[in-house]
Amino acid sequence: AGHSEPPPKLVLDLERLQSVPSEKAGPLARYAATIQSQRGDYNGKVLSIRSDDLRALAVIYDLPPQQLAEELISWGVLDPDARRAVAQNG
Ligand code: C2E
Ligand code: C2E
Ligand code: C2E
Repeated sequence: AGHSEPPPKLVLDLERLQSVPSEKAGPLARYAATIQSQRGDYNGKVLSIRSDDLRALAVIYDLPPQQLAEELISWGVLDPDARRAVAQNG
């Protein structure tokens, strides 16, 4: 009913990810590479991921999902708009 926005997507910037030190970016880089391989999607500069995947990554990084999202935003890997995607899903 009018004025509906689609929910924001979690879109990883793969080029920025390459410039993040591997001791921070390693687990995320491996996770993203696995998704690319499962999809056969190798040529993108960005990769859209499931919100469930952010929750899985939060377990890997031992952080609440929202705090992991803040980390990724601070690295420039995730758009600040993605905050709304995380907030919506708890
Ligand atoms: P699957 O989950 O059984 O999905 C099969 C196919 O359904 C996918 O093939 C894709 O064409 C479509 N699909 C499923 N969910 C979505 C969605 O949310 N958005 C879109 N656009 N399409 C969707 P595809 O892409 O070749 O992926 C093959 C398998 O690789 C998937 O099987 C899943 O097991 C895995 N996979 C791919 N991308 C992701 C991801 O971002 N996260 C996770 N957890 N697994 C993924
Ligand atoms: P969008 O989701 O806003 O994506 C905009 C552009 O970002 C895409 O343009 C593509 O260049 C890039 N992009 C986003 N996510 C990925 C990703 O996971 N892998 C790669 N390699 N590139 C990505 P594109 O391809 O011309 O698509 C334009 C729009 O068409 C998309 O906007 C989306 O709304 C729709 N679209 C394209 N492919 C799919 C799909 O497989 N499933 C769904 N549901 N929508 C799609
Ligand atoms: P999208 O393709 O625009 O899908 C938006 C949301 O619609 C997804 O959010 C999911 O909740 C639902 N959805 C779309 N297609 C399917 C499907 O085949 N099965 C189910 N169960 N739900 C579906 P989600 O999961 O957070 O994914 C966000 C974005 O990540 C997707 O946007 C798509 O760009 C990408 N993505 C996720 N999984 C896959 C996948 O398996 N393959 C590909 N190629 N892209 C995926």
